[in-house]
Amino acid sequence: MLTIGLLGGMSWESSAEYYRLANELVRERLGGLHSARLLLASVDFADVERLQVAGRWDEAGQLLAGLARGVEAAGADLLLLCTNTMHKVADQVQAAVSIPLLHLADATADAVTGDGISTVGLLGTAFTMERDFYRDRLASRGLRVMTPGAADRAEVHRVVYDELCLGVVREESRRAYRDVIDRLVAAGAQGVVLGCTEIELLITASDNPVPVYPTTRLHVEAAITAALAPSAVSGPRTPPGAGR
Ligand code: GLU
Repeated sequence: MLTIGLLGGMSWESSAEYYRLANELVRERLGGLHSARLLLASVDFADVERLQVAGRWDEAGQLLAGLARGVEAAGADLLLLCTNTMHKVADQVQAAVSIPLLHLADATADAVTGDGISTVGLLGTAFTMERDFYRDRLASRGLRVMTPGAADRAEVHRVVYDELCLGVVREESRRAYRDVIDRLVAAGAQGVVLGCTEIELLITASDNPVPVYPTTRLHVEAAITAALAPSAVSGPRTPPGAGR
């Protein structure tokens, strides 16, 4: 079994889910007392959020790249960035290490297309819904991506930072999210990507008019599949300059 490096704390509410799900899946697949080999580097999310709001993505990327080097040095064979939003700097993080970063949007797109769905609604932070990095990655795998209207995007974003990242799960917010999902479906979405790692703390697979795609679970499933079948992992890549 390979060792998975987790870059977490964004927020720790969802990183705790990564930890739980990874261990549950290994137990399901291997039985007995088996559990996942994991290395976790966890940030102070207040630092990262400050950089996001200030648009200082390069600094945030440097911070995460440093953590990625740390888990690689500690023995990680593959890397998970445990947040959709911070995939904005996924290339910068990947460039810092020679182990492969398993991209969250790829794991998600594979699950969606595997179900024969081609048009999805995307819920996430404003960064994820409004910038290109995540939508384009899904689109590069053949998906048409729809996002909610401006007022809905603002509310979805607010609930992530003001509630879910603080461990607050409110019925009122669940109803608001369901209404947003209904509007996406009415506009043509065949499925909805829960493109923020905390949203599945609020919205579960049941009671939705279309399939929903919980990105934390999908990311962990892809990672455990790779960790248990090492040949499925591309890499480790040759570090620049090696062998010269
Ligand atoms: N965990 C969230 C995500 O998946 C939001 C927190 C963050 O900004 O990283 O996008």
